[in-house]
Amino acid sequence: MNNIHDFLEEIPVSVKNFIPVRKRLFVGLLGASVLGAGALLAGIWLLAINPTRTVFDQILLIVLTVLLMGGTALATMGIGGIILTILYSKDITAFHGPIRIAVSLFFPIVLVIGKILHIDSEKIKSSFIEVNNDLVRSKALRLKPAQILLLAPHCLQNSDCPYKITVNIDNCHRCGKCPVNDLLELRDACGIKMGIATGGTLARKYAQEYRPRAIIAIACERDLTSGIQDTSPIPVLGVTNERPFGPCFNTSVKIPDVEKAVNFFIAEGNYETASCDQ
Ligand code: SF4
Repeated sequence: MNNIHDFLEEIPVSVKNFIPVRKRLFVGLLGASVLGAGALLAGIWLLAINPTRTVFDQILLIVLTVLLMGGTALATMGIGGIILTILYSKDITAFHGPIRIAVSLFFPIVLVIGKILHIDSEKIKSSFIEVNNDLVRSKALRLKPAQILLLAPHCLQNSDCPYKITVNIDNCHRCGKCPVNDLLELRDACGIKMGIATGGTLARKYAQEYRPRAIIAIACERDLTSGIQDTSPIPVLGVTNERPFGPCFNTSVKIPDVEKAVNFFIAEGNYETASCDQ
């Protein structure tokens, strides 16, 4: 290894890529929000040790500092866990709790920081979905098809279709005018469960009814973000829908992306060889 070029060549691709660009946004903002919490912590600590405060004020501020310190330390561990999981594509059980705390406690702050920095919230949510999907893919899952729930949004249905598929998805006459037809074919070929949801309430109802071990959710960035957090700790692979006519109207989805997600859960990530009818 003679020069810096040789050195760089020696670095494994996984380390060079470290965290792919689309995931960096969420991880970076999460890091910034935890740093912000650290600064707030330092401020409260300085107030607490100020001798002009009454003993009651000092105790209150010290309790607040300890609570914040605990949350920030766990969130820092969570960010470390996210980075290590993405880097090594391995699920590390010890980080599950801290990752959950980092995401649930700091996600709203991430969005606020993004707003201050004029970053489109859809971009941040999309980055979060990518990070979430990587975390899910790091798990060694091999499920039975019936343990997998495919949740699709109502806006995939052709707006001229007269059939009420939210009541019963098999009311679809499979005319092929919208992706519901392809998704039903996938459901039948794989033996997975499927539901069409008009919103979070119906999605939660399906999750309670089918008690899945894993969910594949098709939705926009906003609904996927809230759905992933709502159903935690059930692993959710999110597939973003396409909106050629604007939001919530005659939307579409890339069926191969949905198939990939189904095959991941059934065949432990072996996309190439897995097929639903195996
Ligand atoms: S595929 Fe089914 S849901 Fe879609 S338009 Fe045809 S009948 Fe309606």
